[in-house]
Amino acid sequence: RIRAGVTPDLRIDVLPIADSTNRVLMDADPAADPQAVIAEYQSAGRGRRGRDWRSPFGANLYLSTAWTYPLWPHQLPALSLAVGVICARALHAAGVDGVRLKWPNDLLVQQRKLGGILIEQRGESSGLCRVIVGVGINVSMHKSQAAGIDQPWITVDEAMELAGRPPVSRNLLAAELLHGLHECLARYTVKGFEPYREEWLALDALRGREVHVPGDDKLRGIGQGIDASGAFLIETKAGLRPVHAGDVSLRAV
Ligand code: ATP
Repeated sequence: RIRAGVTPDLRIDVLPIADSTNRVLMDADPAADPQAVIAEYQSAGRGRRGRDWRSPFGANLYLSTAWTYPLWPHQLPALSLAVGVICARALHAAGVDGVRLKWPNDLLVQQRKLGGILIEQRGESSGLCRVIVGVGINVSMHKSQAAGIDQPWITVDEAMELAGRPPVSRNLLAAELLHGLHECLARYTVKGFEPYREEWLALDALRGREVHVPGDDKLRGIGQGIDASGAFLIETKAGLRPVHAGDVSLRAV
């Protein structure tokens, strides 16, 4: 246990291998929350809807943290957006600039995927309100380790090289993230998403770009930011349409 700012008594397990860091926390005792897991390798790293998250050994950051709330925060669907803001801040504090957010859960640099966020909830039936926040950030993954990634991606190392700056420390990035995430999780139950909304809008990777929801021809148009609930807004031919997270993936055209 270490003393870590807003979370004075945080348990952090650093594991060589995990199936997924979210999974480890799902199975952990909620009485030990807040707690965090960092792994060097994920044998079954996941994105949204069970998609694969490439997680080679020692190359990236795979970090999850679990938090138990006394009541479900009323704006839980937008938590992923607030966490995106926290990730951008942590990356900035560690030296990485130019991070943008692609609704609802991707971290981009130069329109390429640097990382992703996976939030899972537990405990509706048991009366516990448990949120598990997982963050994966590519740090030094080599292309030989990236088989199967079917969209443009980037690492922190490459972003720093392109900016002509020295590499950043993965440990420093992990510490910044943990600090920011716990501050956010503590505030969220009281303040919800509103304190993060303006900052999210300033980081929006799709603002003003043509976007579409694959499989739905009507949801095609220009990205116009998000509303107060965190729904993505598309200016379509038929007017402004909100898109809610969940089963929807947005793509730039
Ligand atoms: P959405 O917009 O719905 O989030 P997505 O394709 O970004 O769609 P995610 O669930 O966020 O989906 O992430 C999984 C996808 O990310 C995989 O299908 C793969 O294309 C890509 N991916 C997997 N591992 C990595 C990685 N280490 N870095 C960047 N991209 C990855």
